[in-house]
Amino acid sequence: MSKLLIVGTVAFDAIQTPFGKTDKILGGAATYIGLSAANFNVNSGIVSVVGGDFPQEYLDMLNDKKVDTTGIEIVKEGKTFFWSGKYHNDMNTRDTLATELNVLENFNPVVPENFKDAGIVMLGNLHPLVQNAVLEQMAEKPKLVVLDTMNFWMDIAMPELKAVIKKVDVITINDEEARQLSGEYSLLVAAEKIQAMGPKYVVIKKGEHGALLFHKDQVFFAPALPLEEVYDPTGAGDTFAGGFSGYLAKTDDVSFANMKNALIHGSNLASFCVEKFGTERMQNVTETEINERLLSFRNLTKYEMEIPSKK
Ligand code: AMP
Repeated sequence: MSKLLIVGTVAFDAIQTPFGKTDKILGGAATYIGLSAANFNVNSGIVSVVGGDFPQEYLDMLNDKKVDTTGIEIVKEGKTFFWSGKYHNDMNTRDTLATELNVLENFNPVVPENFKDAGIVMLGNLHPLVQNAVLEQMAEKPKLVVLDTMNFWMDIAMPELKAVIKKVDVITINDEEARQLSGEYSLLVAAEKIQAMGPKYVVIKKGEHGALLFHKDQVFFAPALPLEEVYDPTGAGDTFAGGFSGYLAKTDDVSFANMKNALIHGSNLASFCVEKFGTERMQNVTETEINERLLSFRNLTKYEMEIPSKK
């Protein structure tokens, strides 16, 4: 088992979907990643920042799940990062209504001493300079560095983002972001170009259409489970990243073959995240539910077919 260091926003979100809307609720990339990775009982810790307005009970909830929060700085006089989004009817696309950086604006991350030797580093979505500053503090080169980001940072900090991308092993982004980053429409060509930027592995998330893992000339596909109820896709990408990195930390095996399993675990956990608003579902999903759904995943794509051979 490797230690897992998580970086990302810990936030307030206000969400609108065709099924309803929320006031400020708990959100943030690191929150979803931590809750997801917690299902593998790994030793994980978050580096982030919140304001004095952030309820202690949210930190307690993460601690109860064995997610170490000593790396979450509390700026008493500051306000917590706030994001608001509205989903379209297809639930696959959304408009960002507000992104208020608040305490994130002047954040200098400090990696706690006991996480400087983490084997797996999950650089969740936030400013690429913060992602880079965390990497620089690691005592030794981690076994694997995974980076997740989004169009927001590509729009305002592309050079800084490209500089940190150069140093990571795996990048996880959605299809539109892969196109924006590479300037290519074909995802195959985009993945090739992104590999040339640094990461040896590229994961492209396609929402309800699953996720693709690229490495050299190999491609692997994990479907998303067709679900009856999708209430709120917020955090699905981060939950995926938490499942992916959490599984790799637990198994301590960062081979391509094991990353395929990690992709399935990520998709499996993301399928729970979307069933309720915010983090609610990830706070109470059980091991039995997770394992049952893994079986459904296996059955979804399992088939026996003989490929005719030319005589
Ligand atoms: P996802 O749906 O996986 O893309 O992640 C949604 C989460 O990302 C929300 O909980 C937000 O608080 C957080 N978020 C939204 N915009 C940003 C941003 N620009 N940087 C970091 N985190 C963000």
